[in-house]
Amino acid sequence: MTTTRDYYEILGVARNASDAEIKSAYRRLALKHHPDRNQGNKEAEEKFKEAAEAYSVLCDAQKRQRYDAYGHAGLGGAAGFDPTIFSDFGDILGDLFGFGDAFGRRRGGPRRGADLRYNLELRFEEAVFGTETHIQIPRAEPCPACQGNGAAPGTSPTTCASCGGRGQVTFQQGFFSVARTCGRCHGTGRVVTTPCKDCSGDGHVTVERKLQIKIPGGVDTGSQLRISGEGEAGGAGGPPGDLYVVVRVEEHPFFQREGAALLCEVPIGFAQAALGTTIEVPNVGGGKTKLAIPEGTQGGTVFRVRGQGVPHLGGRGRGDLHVTVRVVVPTKLTAEQRKMIDQLGKSLPSPEEQEKDRSFLGKVKDILG
Ligand SMILES: [Zn+2]
Ligand SMILES: [Zn+2]
Repeated sequence: MTTTRDYYEILGVARNASDAEIKSAYRRLALKHHPDRNQGNKEAEEKFKEAAEAYSVLCDAQKRQRYDAYGHAGLGGAAGFDPTIFSDFGDILGDLFGFGDAFGRRRGGPRRGADLRYNLELRFEEAVFGTETHIQIPRAEPCPACQGNGAAPGTSPTTCASCGGRGQVTFQQGFFSVARTCGRCHGTGRVVTTPCKDCSGDGHVTVERKLQIKIPGGVDTGSQLRISGEGEAGGAGGPPGDLYVVVRVEEHPFFQREGAALLCEVPIGFAQAALGTTIEVPNVGGGKTKLAIPEGTQGGTVFRVRGQGVPHLGGRGRGDLHVTVRVVVPTKLTAEQRKMIDQLGKSLPSPEEQEKDRSFLGKVKDILG
């Protein structure tokens, strides 16, 4: 125990304040006086510690009972500020806003809004180069007519008669006094007698929100973008959830993707494969890349064009374009063509002999794009 001031006075709440009121009063003070925001300010530090001490007693039903009955003396030094508990700002926020914490929800305290998921379909090129797009998100927001409290304009929620506004009711079970969430007000300590017409007393309305989002180049099917704070609104002063945009990329008739590598297949005639040629490969973003095919190129040879692939997501540069050459064997030959190919075939060495000459190294040709 480090302070002799009255704990209710420190938090600025009434002696019969509900748990939710105490929690939100403490949250306000903790945020205001937190050392991270008031570096070197001794007075703020003292106020922060005082508030933490007051909260550590008043949020605990047993300690609060002893304090109500006997004042500071009733705590026998059991209270007091423990700097290790409150040293991390994130912990305070997590605790107070009830992140992933059913406890805060049961007690009707501030709770974080639900996360939302939006499935976004992208064209192949949009995924490769990135894009900006508008999306419409239906999400629950505090009702503007009643400011989210659910009571018809001109009226306000009243203190719950069942629990006296504490949000909890206690009952005796053998020797023990057991507290549970009030069924009438669901732990909020307040009830709406005249519900707001716009939201039927729910306090929330569904609003279509239009968001402009920026998709970075290099996303692929399954990529997730988290848009902080664009999920459902929180409850009782809690923060909103996040929006997750989940990407699905349409297939491309010519290109395929393997991460940052772009793959395609180009057919060439068998005469071109034998004699060598220059082909034009379409680029994913438009335009063409010229590719020299050396003489004696076999079907299945992969030519790699550096830097013509997909941008590395969150990194620098682009992957490579892998062009696989497919050699097309002619069909539907005329009698004359048949004769010519037959003569050609007879004049060539056997495939086995030709294979001997061919190097098995360098099957993948590198071309600087
Ligand atoms: Zn309303
Ligand atoms: Zn109640």
